[in-house]
Amino acid sequence: MKTEQKIWVALATIGCVGALVAMIAAVSMSKGIVIAAMGIVCASIIGNFVILFKHAGRLKKIVHALSVGSQVKMTATYPPGSLLKEIGTATERFMDETNAKVKALQNENSDIGLQLQLLHRRKNSVEAILNSIRDAVIVTDDRDRIILANAAAETLFEFEFDPLEPLTLEESISSSELVAAISKCRTSRTAHVRHELTFEKGQQPVSYDTVLSCVEDDKGHVLQVVAVLHDITREKEIAQMKNDFVSHVSHELKTPLASINAYAEMLVDGEAEDAETIGQFCGVIQSQAQRLSRLIEDILNISRIESGLVKVSKQTHSLALVIRDSVEMITSYAQEKNITVHSPAPILYDQVTIDRDMISEVVINLLSNAVKYTPANGEITVRTDLNEIEGQVTVTITDTGVGIPAEDVDHVFDKFYRVKANNKCAKGTGLGLNLVKQIVETVHGGSVFVTSATGEGSTFGFVLPLSKETVAQTV
Ligand code: ADP
Repeated sequence: MKTEQKIWVALATIGCVGALVAMIAAVSMSKGIVIAAMGIVCASIIGNFVILFKHAGRLKKIVHALSVGSQVKMTATYPPGSLLKEIGTATERFMDETNAKVKALQNENSDIGLQLQLLHRRKNSVEAILNSIRDAVIVTDDRDRIILANAAAETLFEFEFDPLEPLTLEESISSSELVAAISKCRTSRTAHVRHELTFEKGQQPVSYDTVLSCVEDDKGHVLQVVAVLHDITREKEIAQMKNDFVSHVSHELKTPLASINAYAEMLVDGEAEDAETIGQFCGVIQSQAQRLSRLIEDILNISRIESGLVKVSKQTHSLALVIRDSVEMITSYAQEKNITVHSPAPILYDQVTIDRDMISEVVINLLSNAVKYTPANGEITVRTDLNEIEGQVTVTITDTGVGIPAEDVDHVFDKFYRVKANNKCAKGTGLGLNLVKQIVETVHGGSVFVTSATGEGSTFGFVLPLSKETVAQTV
């Protein structure tokens, strides 16, 4: 037993003896003995307090540990049988239990932290996925408030989605049709419903294939409505273009066919009596058949290029030589109308990598248009401009013809587009310039252009990239 413990035992014994003597004295009414006994009890209490004070630091440590919730290992020794030992043992037991609880809570806390991190990561990835979807996605709750919207939806309807302050459908979406459709889907609890909706986007009508789906809980209560809007504007345009193309083609084919049919019938019926009339009728049939085959050839060429099925054989050529050969081919046609064609002196080195036949077709098309739409005694000038810095060559064909009205200029490269004002000048299919555009732009990566003034003439042209060897030689 340590000295401190011995003192503790002695003081406690003295205290007890003092208290006993005081009681006996009180019973025997001896004043002196009572005072002496009280003195002994006080001395014992003071002694106990001295020892208690000595252990106050340790108690303070225990209280601090309890307040911060940390684990403290108590390894103190207390005087046996003392009040302090009782407090110490109870506190240590309490501390052990608290420590165990703190440890469990800490483990639980780190688990929750991990789960929170995981949830946060999952939320971010769901947001990133939603925003990467090009379709607009909107999710509304049972009170038609937007509780989720991706970037495409925000751009389409020009609103800002804030999950902390959800807006109602009416507040965020300008299309009353969509608002009504979502509300109806919710109230009618339709599992999936499809609508084709058209909105205004930058003053342009845009069409959306809209799928609405109801999300219900186990009890069949509608929780959310999910709206997915897929932009079908381009698909609709293509479908429209195909329809237009088919109706144009049928119309264009019908005209020469009807002619051929009519003249053939007249021949069969013997309506052409003399050789001259028969010759005339046969001539019409022949020219209409040629028109028909040109038309079919143009349609096939355009669709082959558009679908990427055309066979292209590119080699480096001197563009000026290609132009010279093409000019030669239309010279007799130009001479019929006494039209003069000025063309450049050919540059004899290879400048461009082209499919020669295709580019010849381009030049012949532009030259024959110039002749077709230029009145007699006019002039046609062909120019080639080499731009070594830009690495390109520009070909222009300028005529002194009828010109093109301003409202038609932007459309002359469209399929089947014919300028009404010029229809009387020449027959045509309205496909020649579209074929030119396809060959230059789609097959050769160049560009086409036109400038024109009614009554003064037109300049059609195209730009082609110089072949790499040419650029290397000239730099
Ligand atoms: P077409 O077979 O009708 O000539 P194109 O596609 O070659 O078809 O031309 C489309 C339209 O552009 C023509 O109908 C014509 O009105 C106009 N056009 C083309 N070239 C010229 C030109 N050099 N001068 C005036 N108009 C032209």
